[in-house]
Amino acid sequence: MKIHEYQAKDILRRSGTPLLKGRVAYSVEEAVNVAREIGGGVWVVKAQIHAGGRGKGGGVKIAKSTEEVRSWAEKILGMQLVTPQTGPEGKKVNQLLIEEGCQIDHEYYLACLLDRDTGRLCMMGSYDGGMDIEEVAHKHPGRIIKEWFDAAEGLQGFQARRLALRMGIPARLVNKAGALVQSVARCFLDNDASLVEINPLVTTKDGNVIALDAKMTFDDNALFRHTSIESLRDLTEEVPEETEAKKYDLSYIKLDGNIGCMVNGAGLAMATMDIIKLHGGNPANFLDVGGGASKDRVTAAFKLILSDRNVKGVLINIFGGIMKCDVIAEGVIAAAKEVNLKVPVVARLEGTNVEKGRKLLDESGLRIQSATDLTDAARKIVAAVK
Ligand code: ADP
Ligand code: MG
Repeated sequence: MKIHEYQAKDILRRSGTPLLKGRVAYSVEEAVNVAREIGGGVWVVKAQIHAGGRGKGGGVKIAKSTEEVRSWAEKILGMQLVTPQTGPEGKKVNQLLIEEGCQIDHEYYLACLLDRDTGRLCMMGSYDGGMDIEEVAHKHPGRIIKEWFDAAEGLQGFQARRLALRMGIPARLVNKAGALVQSVARCFLDNDASLVEINPLVTTKDGNVIALDAKMTFDDNALFRHTSIESLRDLTEEVPEETEAKKYDLSYIKLDGNIGCMVNGAGLAMATMDIIKLHGGNPANFLDVGGGASKDRVTAAFKLILSDRNVKGVLINIFGGIMKCDVIAEGVIAAAKEVNLKVPVVARLEGTNVEKGRKLLDESGLRIQSATDLTDAARKIVAAVK
């Protein structure tokens, strides 16, 4: 699960991470009031969307008076912000973070994450912050510094200071930077995060070390222990079909092809997508209805697939183990009747109660082609949508 920068900063503040004064604003008037509240003479108006690269897209602006805060807030609130991370359609800005400005000396990069190569937690830093870190990693891998640590012990003080020093933070600021780095590690562990990214972490002209930007994502499997974090979910940022799928405990990910996939088991779902591709088609989604799904869940899943207007055909690929083929058939038939099915459907059923399932589909009066194996199924559905 992703959250906004202002929410991530609220959580970091509780872990003791040094930040600038700032607060969220939902209207132009509120933005001006927040700026007055913060005081000082320079503010930054920052679009809050679930994507980075906002600076490049015009979503981060410096204001030198409250009048400038007002005019930037007017421009940014409600805009469709396009950044290198949003895709060409952009994202609508519904809230702003108004923060005090600071005089930056240098922009560094810092992130805490799970390093899948070593299977350990990792704090990663670089002298080259504020920019695209993937590019730095690609062109100058040696400029990315890493410290691995244990979840039970946490990141040790000496490790945090060693990282700061190797990142090129001036020696006189290494203690301050080390404390910041350790607070980020604590924040990561305490909240079951999957990523805490500070890009940029800055040193300022007046000798401070501050987290200027913050991105946080969470391990969905641990959200049950953090109800306060779950409540930070911003549904306007999420794909509506995926939100609907969660209600029924379905693993659904929307993709941009035109063949809807209804599959049980994540591995089979992946294989189904691969074989569709192999035969020249494009999957419209990943969907795992799970083992032992009820008829209601199958109905919900099938309706979900058909609610996607790009879907020109559906491939049902079920291996009935715990899941029974007749339950799948019943769900499909119920959903097809409710939504007035217009697109071709190919079904490949195998396993428990397969004869019952096939019979139900054959006698349903629906135009469903049956397939004997994966290849046959993929060929038939690709031909049907062409
Ligand atoms: P994004 O990563 O989405 O572009 P950032 O929060 O990193 O957004 O902001 C982009 C750039 O704007 C930063 O790299 C920094 O140079 C500048 N900036 C952001 N916040 C401030 C601030 N409070 N004071 C001064 N400059 C800032
Ligand atoms: Mg940034």
